[in-house]
Amino acid sequence: MAERTFDVVVVGAGPAGEVAAGRLGEAGLRVALVEQQLVGGECSFYACMPSKALLRPGQLLAETQRVPGVREAVTGQLAVEAVLRRRDEVIHGLDDGSQLPWIEERGIALVRGRGVLDGERRVRVGDDVLVAEQAVVLAVGSRASLPPVEGLAESSPWTNREATTAQSVPPSLLVLGGGVAGCELGQAYATLGSQVTVVEVAPRLLLKEEPFAGEQVHQALTQLGARVQLGIKPASVRRDDDGFEMRFENGSALRAAQLLVSAGRTPPTGELGLETVGVEPGKGGFVEVDDQLRVPRAPWLFVVGDANGRALLTHIGKHQARIAADVIRGRDVRLRDAGPPPRVVFTEPQVTAVGHTLQSARDAGLNVRCVDYPVKAVAGSSFVGRGTPGTARLVIDEDARVLVGATFTGTELADTLHAATIAVTARVSLDDLWHAVPSFPTRSEVWLRLLEVYGL
Ligand SMILES: Cc1cc2nc3c(=O)[nH]c(=O)nc-3n(C[C@H](O)[C@H](O)[C@H](O)COP(=O)(O)OP(=O)(O)OC[C@H]3O[C@@H](n4cnc5c(N)ncnc54)[C@H](O)[C@@H]3O)c2cc1C
Repeated sequence: MAERTFDVVVVGAGPAGEVAAGRLGEAGLRVALVEQQLVGGECSFYACMPSKALLRPGQLLAETQRVPGVREAVTGQLAVEAVLRRRDEVIHGLDDGSQLPWIEERGIALVRGRGVLDGERRVRVGDDVLVAEQAVVLAVGSRASLPPVEGLAESSPWTNREATTAQSVPPSLLVLGGGVAGCELGQAYATLGSQVTVVEVAPRLLLKEEPFAGEQVHQALTQLGARVQLGIKPASVRRDDDGFEMRFENGSALRAAQLLVSAGRTPPTGELGLETVGVEPGKGGFVEVDDQLRVPRAPWLFVVGDANGRALLTHIGKHQARIAADVIRGRDVRLRDAGPPPRVVFTEPQVTAVGHTLQSARDAGLNVRCVDYPVKAVAGSSFVGRGTPGTARLVIDEDARVLVGATFTGTELADTLHAATIAVTARVSLDDLWHAVPSFPTRSEVWLRLLEVYGL
């Protein structure tokens, strides 16, 4: 057994682990980064990046069909093999070599293997022990949960991993779960020619977002020829030579060549040796942390990214990683509570939101009023996303006269969400917002219309 000493040991090299290690390495600390699979994690290879590579071609083709002159020029169908090849480029053929120079340039020691805690400030990787003089950062992410449905696990369904790396498109795909990943992957496969059915136990898709968001995505899926079944609960799954059969508690059944389960995430915290340092994972296996990302029972231990369950989003995991790294470097920084984080569902229409929905604001006890405006009613929509659904909603705290939430649905809006993120995070007053004049003819003019509806 060999023992090596570092200032900080980071376990897991997904986006959160990479950022924590990078920031600490740049500051001159001796850092070990432990990874059991691919440097870049779930996000780069099996989640964010490949799902967007699968979605974008169908969306771009749809947009060309809405623009006269281009519609006549672009008359073919998607070239599915080329789409899959481009997806392979995006995930570098599941080779993490391109990520390694970034790590080396920061003087980080990459240790390949599974890291397990072995007492305070000690991480065992195979026969080696990495000793952390200052801190251990767990950035072990999450993996797809399989709900306890009879026969489901035995049927070996697709999870996001298989769906994002498949080398062919199944003729039919049953998607269990109408949350973000289920809607994105369901729509991607529908554009690639699969007969998709999305089933969801809740009464609507994208349950955590404004109701109109799920309704518009539902309608878009239907227009692509996909089916959506809401409010049904699976009872059992059976697999045979022809594919999968899922039976539901209401007595109905659905068959498909392939089954994709997208029904929540579980962190791999049961196999991390947490018991050796007296820490027990909380609900769902997530490890509770304070606003400096420390585990209260073990202040030398930090958990960043999906594994702490605060917000399962890459940009939030990276933000947490920057904060944890700065705390380890002795700075007094902490997470701010600005409400629910910025988020984008990259479907067509996109659902982009930051802060509260109307319902979550009311549930939080805020005195709020919402204003809505159709995105297509501003001049900029003549040029992008013409004729497509889209709604803008601001949720306004009437006492403080600031935005506490914003949701915009429509074509290609993801990059414009940041304006709302700044307004919500910085609590910009409505009167100041009114002087932030949007350019003409852009869809950002919807901000002005919303403020006018509010009465400014
Ligand atoms: C289909 C899909 C699409 C998504 N799209 C988006 C999106 O567009 N935008 C967005 O913000 N988020 C998206 N997400 C969520 C995003 O993927 C996660 O929030 C993000 O990957 C979390 O980063 P992480 O660093 O915490 O963990 P991960 O990316 O899961 O990385 C964790 C790493 O730790 C390693 N590891 C685990 N245990 C050990 C151990 N014991 N020893 C060594 N290594 C270990 C794993 O191998 C892995 O490489 C998507 C998720 C899915 C499923």
